[in-house]
Amino acid sequence: MAKKIPLACGECHRILDDDQETCNAHPEAHCTSDWAGYVVILNPERSEIAEKLEITRAGNYALKVNIR
Ligand SMILES: [Zn+2]
Repeated sequence: MAKKIPLACGECHRILDDDQETCNAHPEAHCTSDWAGYVVILNPERSEIAEKLEITRAGNYALKVNIR
C-alpha cells in the first residue's frame, strides 16, 4: 500500500495531517505535496531552524515548498 505524501502549506511550510487539505492558519494558502526536507520543530523559541523559517508554533515542517 503506497503511502500518500502529505501536503505542506505554501505560506508557513507546516506539513498537514493526512486528512487535512488546507492549513488551519492559512485556509487561502496554496498547499502542495511538492516539498523537500522534513523538519520537526519542538521548541520554536529555542530553534535556529525555526527562527530561519519564521516558525512560532511547534510541529512538522518542510524546509522547502515548491509553489508554481
Ligand atoms: Zn500555513
